Amino acid sequence: MNIAKVIVDVPASSINQTFDYVIPERFLEILKPGMRVIVPFGPRKIMGYVVDWTNDSDFNNLKEINDVLDLTPVLTPELLELGKWLAEYTLSLYITAFQAMLPQVLKANYKKELERISNEPLSDQLEAFFAGRDSVSYEELENTSVSFSQIQRAIQDGAIAVRYLVKSRVTKKHVAFVRPAVETQLLTEAFEDISDRAKKQKEIIDYFIDHPEEIELNQLIKLFKTTRSTINALQDKGLIVSFKKEVYRNPYNDDAFESTTALELTNEQRRAIEPIKQHIKNDEHDVFLLHGVTGSGKTEIYLQAIQDVINKGEEAIVLVPEISLTPQMVNRFKGRFGSNVAVLHSALSYGEKYDEWRRVHRKEVQVVVGARSAVFAPFENLGIIIIDEEHENSYKQEDQPRYHARDAAIRRGENHRCPVILGSATPTLESYARAQKGVYKLAVLEKRTNEKAMPEVDIVDMREELHAGNRSMFSRRLKETIDQRINRGEQAVLLLNRRGYSTFVMCRDCGHVKECPHCDIALTFHKLHNQLKCHYCSYEEPMPMYCPSCSSDLIRFFGTGTQRIEEALTQLVPEARVLRMDVDTTRRKGSHEKLLNQFANKEADILLGTQMIAKGLDFENVTLVGVLTADSMLHLPDFRSAEKTFQLLTQVSGRAGRHELPGEVIVQTYTPEHYSIELASQYDYMAFYKQEMQIRKKFQYPPYVFLALITVSHKNHITAVKSTQQIVQALWPLLQHDSVILGPTPSPITRVKDRYRYQCMIKYRHEPELRTLINKIVQQFDEDVRKNDLLISVDMQPYQLM
Ligand code: ADP
Ligand code: ZN
Ligand code: ZN
Repeated sequence: MNIAKVIVDVPASSINQTFDYVIPERFLEILKPGMRVIVPFGPRKIMGYVVDWTNDSDFNNLKEINDVLDLTPVLTPELLELGKWLAEYTLSLYITAFQAMLPQVLKANYKKELERISNEPLSDQLEAFFAGRDSVSYEELENTSVSFSQIQRAIQDGAIAVRYLVKSRVTKKHVAFVRPAVETQLLTEAFEDISDRAKKQKEIIDYFIDHPEEIELNQLIKLFKTTRSTINALQDKGLIVSFKKEVYRNPYNDDAFESTTALELTNEQRRAIEPIKQHIKNDEHDVFLLHGVTGSGKTEIYLQAIQDVINKGEEAIVLVPEISLTPQMVNRFKGRFGSNVAVLHSALSYGEKYDEWRRVHRKEVQVVVGARSAVFAPFENLGIIIIDEEHENSYKQEDQPRYHARDAAIRRGENHRCPVILGSATPTLESYARAQKGVYKLAVLEKRTNEKAMPEVDIVDMREELHAGNRSMFSRRLKETIDQRINRGEQAVLLLNRRGYSTFVMCRDCGHVKECPHCDIALTFHKLHNQLKCHYCSYEEPMPMYCPSCSSDLIRFFGTGTQRIEEALTQLVPEARVLRMDVDTTRRKGSHEKLLNQFANKEADILLGTQMIAKGLDFENVTLVGVLTADSMLHLPDFRSAEKTFQLLTQVSGRAGRHELPGEVIVQTYTPEHYSIELASQYDYMAFYKQEMQIRKKFQYPPYVFLALITVSHKNHITAVKSTQQIVQALWPLLQHDSVILGPTPSPITRVKDRYRYQCMIKYRHEPELRTLINKIVQQFDEDVRKNDLLISVDMQPYQLM
């Protein structure tokens, strides 16, 4: 067994296979599958993952592994298998899948260097470039006048060579510590010898006589209000030694969390948790859908189930949406399990993330709380996986590998024979339908634990505002209520659905929105040709002059950005202090928390923002939540738009009045009669589910069918259209009779960075060979992809249909 099968770090479909390498004698004992290695590949050296062993290879003249980067595997056998599955399931490359499962810093960094290999003098220019050095980084060439042909000649002459280096980006943090260098007995003798004038030295020795263990250097200096030179003096005398020790960057101060204990569960909670506890006890896998309104005690159930898992000596993964990974959420888990919790989310620095990951890797914690990719935490004895707010879109990764965390979680749950819990107040139709069919087990929490009613939702018809002569974005009702709340010293949250992005046309008089007669989605406005297009099926019609429903000429494009609203708001309520929270104001690390803290400290009266403000917030003083334009989400060109609207409205409503002060929700819309708005205001999930399922059935959308979205992009418009056309034509004859391909049609965002985007969508029930077929067809374009800059992306079960 001295040949390793390696997946190399070359993201190209022609390289998407293992390569065999000989394991040199010196690595035979230490190398294991799941470790990263450096291997020669063509003229370069690159990083790779060892995935398997073998005794013999079909190839001759195998090269040797150059180096081993890890002491213990970074991918467990289970994760290696999962990575393979992930790549095949999402039609991605193996290397991409593996890298998606690991922290960023474990990716390799490649450097190119020019090295001088003979003592012969070089041309003057090259001598000046090397400036006495043996090797120089390739990048330095850019800023010089040395020509490429000069370099080539020198390489041919054997004077210099190009070297490829692989660097691991891993950075570990080291801190200086000191400890006594001799026994206590000798310290005591030394204490006597030190002159009384060296007072600090004596104090420190005295300290070490009582505390012979190591202490952080900085801490010691602080403790005795002394300086480095005192420490150095003691070190010179051979009494103490200083040394560097690796420490973890801990982004959370574990002492700062107030510790909590398990609450006495309500009857409802007890009924819900019982089967989960049974599964934990019996090492049994099942998926549980925990359906409960905000405040119904889902998190408490998670905490108590995790406690069982910990007691069993096993481990837990908790996924929460990126955006709600707020300090408030982290507090709940740290408060119950203290330093037994690692937290993984994208606001951490690469170094911090790596350290948290290593605490998991080294089994120093039993619980990890994190965003999507935490589902790959390298635990080996998983006892439970929890996905909170399972309906959140952020669980779907929108670039390669395009996986959904739910699928990966269920796969791991099967591997480890442990339960997977999906929690939500508004489950996806896919999950709820599975629960109805008995594929998932359903657990329901109907009441809030504090028995408080959900806040009253008031729907304001914006058409009536217009008819009453109010053309602003704020209804009279909303304006009055804001004034009233501010006068009472209370706060308001105003939600704007989406920043800037909007594609539809709506009649301001009657709220009419043009929809595709075949697909039940809003038509997309294409300004260039003044056309309305369906981007699912390519139906199109001219932009009407008058509303086809009420003949008004107030039919037009719909869209407003947060910044404009902020201006309008400041004019409308000049006395209010407004905080704006959107992607622009939260780009910097920590700015999200900062804004929330300012608001919590009542430094502002109104928090205005996109949906990122809808999640996880819990402010005692917020008594008003206003939704400015419920329509802009409702008419996204996406068959899930009604579901997303329902989820968002339910979620924001849950934010108001969780505490003593009663809350109120005001929803502004041009289509108050739409079922998603009406039913969200009544908190009636079941009625919404039933109605939406009928529509999904009628127009054939998930959960009744599966989807695959193929998007093609190219600088040249015609190439993009043609290639998509060719894919559609190649695929049609190979599909089952009940499958359908829609398109080619332009993507709703038709042009991005000067590339034209076209797409086609496959709707299918049963296509066991679909992935293989798509792969084969896409491979026929390999040459265009490599040489002609054509991009083809495949998304199995897409969430973003833009
Ligand atoms: P969810 O996760 O469904 O929004 P939480 O678990 O956050 O609900 O519970 C809402 C509130 O009710 C929290 O303040 C929590 O501490 C409290 N709570 C949960 N379970 C109980 C219980 N059994 N008894 C008393 N209070 C509870
Ligand atoms: Zn109209
Ligand atoms: Zn259509």
